[in-house]
Amino acid sequence: MYDDSAVKFETDVETRFGVSRRDFLKFCAAMAATMGLPKGADAQIAEAITKKERPSVIWLHHQECTGCSESLLRSEHPTLEKLILDIISLDYHETLFAAAGHQAEAARKAAMEKNKGKYILVVEGAIPMKDGGVYCKIGGQTSYELTKEVAEHAAAIVAVGSCASWGGMPSTPPNPTGSTGVGEALGRKDVVTIPGCPPNPYNILATIVHFLTFGSLPKVDELGRPTFAYGRLIHDNCERRSHFDAGRFALEFGDAGHRKGYCLYKLGCKGPETYANCPSILFNDVGTGSWPVGTGHPCIGCTEKHIGFEKPIHALATLKTNPPTSYPRIVEEQGAGATIASAALVAGVAGLAIGAGMKIAGNLGKSETKDGE
Ligand code: SF4
Repeated sequence: MYDDSAVKFETDVETRFGVSRRDFLKFCAAMAATMGLPKGADAQIAEAITKKERPSVIWLHHQECTGCSESLLRSEHPTLEKLILDIISLDYHETLFAAAGHQAEAARKAAMEKNKGKYILVVEGAIPMKDGGVYCKIGGQTSYELTKEVAEHAAAIVAVGSCASWGGMPSTPPNPTGSTGVGEALGRKDVVTIPGCPPNPYNILATIVHFLTFGSLPKVDELGRPTFAYGRLIHDNCERRSHFDAGRFALEFGDAGHRKGYCLYKLGCKGPETYANCPSILFNDVGTGSWPVGTGHPCIGCTEKHIGFEKPIHALATLKTNPPTSYPRIVEEQGAGATIASAALVAGVAGLAIGAGMKIAGNLGKSETKDGE
């Protein structure tokens, strides 16, 4: 059992965060687990959160629907929003601010001045670059001008959501406003991106907590995405994966296979080419199944540029990995009369370069039929 008495706090977490010590430590353990940190990191996180000054966060909005902020703040978890607002000092957020107009702008400038070189810039929404950026202006400045100004003295820049990461929905062809992400707009490669529509709030918070605890942003991939969250394919952690490997597919929404929870690959699920931790971290803290595939909708690949908002929903995903050939049979017999092993053997004998797994997926999938057929 975890011995929380070893963790010393300089502040009373119950008073400061409004949660019990036990719940606070559970939150820190969840953050450590989300980032895949080794044993003991939860204690480091707990101490950093309670000892260190809350980092100032300036949160800008551009072309977006505010779904990323909603996702962060509408979490069902009773303590998450409380912890978010107590771990960071949210000094500027256009949606949450009570202030408006000149007051809000003055607060932003004051926070920038007071925390020069130390604040975190979070950007939500795409930045339109066409026609001098006139398609989105805040306080008389274009999105580009405002972001450039705030980014200049930021300690770190985090692009939250697909729009801020690479342009997302506003940048879908023909991209009439020339929308793009923060990194491209500013010509910077050090922007951490947390794509998703919306991104999981724990990934946002874990990135900020990492900065607070270790003084640096987490390790990222070539697209600037934290590897703790975007290091594995959705397909590899999906609860329906065994159905994919066994060739059991839903062929229509509402058919027998769909109702039985079979794999959604043939309905256009983009899980096989999309990197994200959705199946393991889930959404809304309501327990199992609270993610698109869990509720019966194919993954649309929202964390991937050129997939999420460009590849048609019905288009089949490109398989990056083949299913293993040795998965055990798990439910009923397949109608085509082929076993996983025999299909693999046939594929191998035929010398198909695409691999046995894909042949299995192609052949056995046909064995699952619609209702009554
Ligand atoms: S194709 Fe989609 S539903 Fe099927 S196993 Fe992969 S991620 Fe899950």
